[in-house]
Amino acid sequence: MIYYKTNEEIEQIRKANLLVSATLAMVAKEIKPGMSAIELDKMAETFIRDHGATPAFKGYKGFPATCCISINEEVVHGIPTDDEFVDGDVVSVDIGTVLNGFVGDSAYTFGIGEINEDLQRLMRVTKESLYKGIEKAIVGNRLGDISWAVQEHTEKMHGYGVVRELTGHGVGKKIHEEPEVPNYGRRGNGLMLKEGLVIAIEPMINMGTKDVYCADDDWTIITNDGKFSAHYEHSIAVRKNKADILSSFDEIEANEKANINLVFPY
Ligand code: MG
Ligand code: MG
Repeated sequence: MIYYKTNEEIEQIRKANLLVSATLAMVAKEIKPGMSAIELDKMAETFIRDHGATPAFKGYKGFPATCCISINEEVVHGIPTDDEFVDGDVVSVDIGTVLNGFVGDSAYTFGIGEINEDLQRLMRVTKESLYKGIEKAIVGNRLGDISWAVQEHTEKMHGYGVVRELTGHGVGKKIHEEPEVPNYGRRGNGLMLKEGLVIAIEPMINMGTKDVYCADDDWTIITNDGKFSAHYEHSIAVRKNKADILSSFDEIEANEKANINLVFPY
C-alpha cells in the first residue's frame, strides 16, 4: 500500500528532512581523524533532541544508535563503535529523524583527511548518480526510470558494483514505506510516478563487486571483496517537471570544504 502525501504532509516531511540535513552539516564540521563513531553519534543525537525531534533509527528493529555509520568496506547500517576514524577513511553517515510525527531520511559519505583519487571518484560518481535518479522522479515517468538512471551512471559508465539487496523506499509517517526504490532496473518499468509520492533515493555503490554480506552483529552490510563503498541519500517528492528535494546537501558541502581545508591547510 502506497500512501500518497498531501502538500501539508510534504511540508512536514521537509521539516524533518531539513533537520537531518542540519545534523549532517554539524557532522561535516566535526568529523575528523581521532574521533570515534560513537562520539559523533552522541553529538548527532543531542543535536536532534535539542531541535525537538527524536532519532528515527534508534530502537528501530532494535538498532542501538542514532546514526548508521559505515566505514570503508561497510556499505550501510554500520553500528557506531569507539574505533577512531583515521586519515583516508570513507565514512557514510545515515540519519533519520521523527519531527511532529513525520520522518526525515538522508545520508552523506565523508572522506576523512586525504582521500585517494579512486575513492574520490567513487564518492563523486555515487553522488552524481543520486541526482541522475532524482532527475527522473517526475510525474509520468516510472520507478524503473530512476533505478535505471542510477545503475547506468555507476555500473555501466564507471564499472562500479550496485548493491542489489538494499533499496530506497517510500518515506512519510514511517521510515520505510512502499514502494521499494532499487538502484538497478529497466527504463519504462514499474510503478507510474504521481504527485504525492515521497521517496528516499539512496544509491549504495561499491568500488568492486556488487555482492555484500551481513556481519555477525546482524546489521552491518559489508562488501564481499573488502573494497570500499559509498552512499548518498535524499528524500524527494515527485512533481510535474522537477522533483522537489526535501533534504539538502548545501550546508553539508560548505562545511565539508571548510573542514578539509582545516585538516589540510595548503
Ligand atoms: Mg537513510
Ligand atoms: Mg533510507
